[in-house]
Amino acid sequence: MAEYEVLTHLLAIPHYEVVGVTFSKESLTLDLQATGEGGICPRCGQFCTTLHENHARLVRDLPLSGKACYLRFVRRRFFCSHCARPFSEPLDFVEDHRDYTRRYQAWIFQQVKENNIASVKRLEGLTFDQIESIFVAEAQARIPSNPFANLKRLGIDEISMRKGKRNFVLILTNLDTGQVADVLEKRTKEKLRSRLAQLPKEARAQIEEVAIDMGEPYSEVCEELLPNATITVDRFHVMQAINKEGKVLKNQEKKQHPEALKGAHYALLKNQEDLTETQQETLHRVYEASPTLKMAHRLKESLRHIFECFSTKEKAMQRLKKWTAIAHQEHLFPKFRKTLAHWLEKITNYFHRRTTSGMVEGVNNKIKLIKRRAFGFRNFEHFRLRVIAAFL
Ligand SMILES: [Zn+2]
Repeated sequence: MAEYEVLTHLLAIPHYEVVGVTFSKESLTLDLQATGEGGICPRCGQFCTTLHENHARLVRDLPLSGKACYLRFVRRRFFCSHCARPFSEPLDFVEDHRDYTRRYQAWIFQQVKENNIASVKRLEGLTFDQIESIFVAEAQARIPSNPFANLKRLGIDEISMRKGKRNFVLILTNLDTGQVADVLEKRTKEKLRSRLAQLPKEARAQIEEVAIDMGEPYSEVCEELLPNATITVDRFHVMQAINKEGKVLKNQEKKQHPEALKGAHYALLKNQEDLTETQQETLHRVYEASPTLKMAHRLKESLRHIFECFSTKEKAMQRLKKWTAIAHQEHLFPKFRKTLAHWLEKITNYFHRRTTSGMVEGVNNKIKLIKRRAFGFRNFEHFRLRVIAAFL
């Protein structure tokens, strides 16, 4: 149909042409017609033109000129004389039992990834359930069937699903690609063990390094199931541990110096070289008011310095022991010192390959964003797909 040639071109669905258009205020419907006379029988490969029956279809497609766009066509069933059975003609642009095209599915997937579900819902006029099912279908098609196939460095991290609630999940990250290999529903030793045990022996054997947090039972499971992996405690978690104890100390000191320590949290927490001028002034005020906090802050910074400036495990180990001796003398960070002594071997494994959790940290931030955007997941499986898909 020459009058719809431009539309056919624009639509770009092979072997179909536009033969009619219906407009309404919000949408337009394009009538399509197959250009071929028959189809190839999927059983025997014979080309058949005997029409058996027609199925009317209406599917949603990408918007056109800002309007929702629907495609109306018939799906033909041909009769194969060779097999003496009918078959449906293959459709490349829409999957069976779906009322939207493949490219619409991909487009919604991308939009959900980049925006929040509420805005996609509003823009597309779809229901939450529709969006969710489209997203899930596309995610399942895109997620690699074996994300552990080439995984050599694994990050294991926990993240809370809902703020303030003790509802944690375990994120398994490929530290080389930054992709999430899996999300486990509970952060238990057993969950991790059963997931790793599912992997084929070769997949487990090829994992060279695992980055974990301290104080968790994960190291035990990894030692048990990943025979060739060096276990490294993330330096990020080491700093997190000392900062936690530093915060308690600051709060104690604050009772005696409420004025000087007002708003000192970030000044103490941030890397010293990144402080703004105001924060530097705050730090100076803290130093003057509390010699204890001054010492604690210097110890925290020197600990960070060790991670940044040493290149061998041996040297770093020496320095960490020296650091511990000073902290001991000053009666500071008793809890952290204990932790450090206990995990020293694994903490200093960091210096072999400098495996940082920078990746894991990035993953955490992205997941926080997902949690904010996707108000309430219907179930854990959807949350899992959402997280994995975010890193594809
Ligand atoms: Zn046949």
